[in-house]
Amino acid sequence: TKRSADDLRSPICCILGHVDTGKTKLLDCIRRTNVQEGEAGGITQQIGATYFPMENIRERTKELPEAANMRVPGLLVIDTPGHESFTNLRSRGSGLCDIAILVIDIMHGLEPQTIESINLLRMRKTPFIVALNKVDRLYQWKPRNNAPIRTTLQEQERHTKSEFETRTKQIMVQLQEQSLNSELYWKNKDKRKAVSIIPTSAISGEGIPDLLYLLVLLTQEMMEKKLMYVSEVECTVLEVKVVEGLGTTIDVVLVNGVLHEGDQIVVCGMQGPIVTTIRALLTPHPMKELRVKGSYQHHKELKAAQGIKITAQGLEHAIAGTQLYVVGEDEDVETIKEEAMKDMKSVMGRIDKSGEGVCVQASTLGSLEALLEFLKTPDVNIPVSGISIGPVHKKDIMRASVMLERKKEYATILAFDVKVTPEARELAEELGVKIFTADIIYHLFDQFTAYLKNTRE
Ligand code: GDP
Ligand code: MG
Repeated sequence: TKRSADDLRSPICCILGHVDTGKTKLLDCIRRTNVQEGEAGGITQQIGATYFPMENIRERTKELPEAANMRVPGLLVIDTPGHESFTNLRSRGSGLCDIAILVIDIMHGLEPQTIESINLLRMRKTPFIVALNKVDRLYQWKPRNNAPIRTTLQEQERHTKSEFETRTKQIMVQLQEQSLNSELYWKNKDKRKAVSIIPTSAISGEGIPDLLYLLVLLTQEMMEKKLMYVSEVECTVLEVKVVEGLGTTIDVVLVNGVLHEGDQIVVCGMQGPIVTTIRALLTPHPMKELRVKGSYQHHKELKAAQGIKITAQGLEHAIAGTQLYVVGEDEDVETIKEEAMKDMKSVMGRIDKSGEGVCVQASTLGSLEALLEFLKTPDVNIPVSGISIGPVHKKDIMRASVMLERKKEYATILAFDVKVTPEARELAEELGVKIFTADIIYHLFDQFTAYLKNTRE
């Protein structure tokens, strides 16, 4: 296949950061079209993502003179329901996200999930920029809707400017403590060495032009090769969902290539590789008014980059966060099956050989991996005897209860970002298995260490 700099695909972008920093609001703000000027801009809502075509980005960045040379066709931004963006941000070999926005609240600075996000981005080697959000909350801020940030900063009173500078400096120091060099983007000479900071407000839209411009600039400058369109399929499973009338479906992001109805696919499953055939390729209806719940548009084929819902048989045990493979005409299914299970195998390899340790459970393979990574760091060092993905069921309690005889304190399940079924909770109570649940990895650690201390005293 031909690769050329004239045929770039849309970069894929994730938003992450601590809760309440404004991730959802920023996305809403970026999504908002210029209603007054009747500018629809062709933004399309996709499965788990929003697509921003270049016309829209041009419109939003027109006040920035430097934003002229944008060559990508658009930008695919992965939605962030709750903190899922974080767990979905997974990449081994083929990365889902080309770039990420780390949102920091200018009034709060670095918070626990900010640091967790930084570590995850580092682990995945994903380039990112910082949106220093909520600048409108600086004392006596004078907003100018949707303005480039430098224009609006110049218009602020001296004391507001000075508060901005003090807070920004403090946050740069905090980032430095995490071994990150950072700089306000217009002062940033070497974007590979220092992380660019873009002050924003998701309420007044200030700094949004800068944010969009920088996302485009960085992706096309730093990863042109990666963005050259190739026909080879690269596709990540975001979520496994049961949909009424459709059965178990998978929501995927097609990063590269084309998917067709009827394609034979292989995905990683809890009980081994799943080989199946695409029954339907679905996207939401483009016109919102027509979007009745559960109604989707069917496609014969779809080209990257896209968020897509796939229906097929046998997807019940598919694992979110893994790659989807298409079996080509002369390709060997067995080889692809092995390939599909590689990620799972490497995670399985992290389980303690002694057979003694806690059980851990997470929502996606990516989050499980992050949790395991954390548990084995020297100052944490908690052995793991069993892993699982998805909600905690009775069978998981049974498995953890094996430890009751060997090492009672390890008869524990550390559940990250998953539900516990009522039956499972009941059984755990009955057998004496402890369940700790949390949405922040190190909260699990805190709970567990407190429990250990208690039982050992
Ligand atoms: P998320 O948890 O990171 O998705 O945060 P949300 O987008 O839900 O925002 C959390 C709260 O902060 C909401 O009440 C928002 O209205 C508010 N918020 C978000 N961005 C801004 C901003 O730029 N300025 C101000 N003043 N409030 C904001
Ligand atoms: Mg949110």
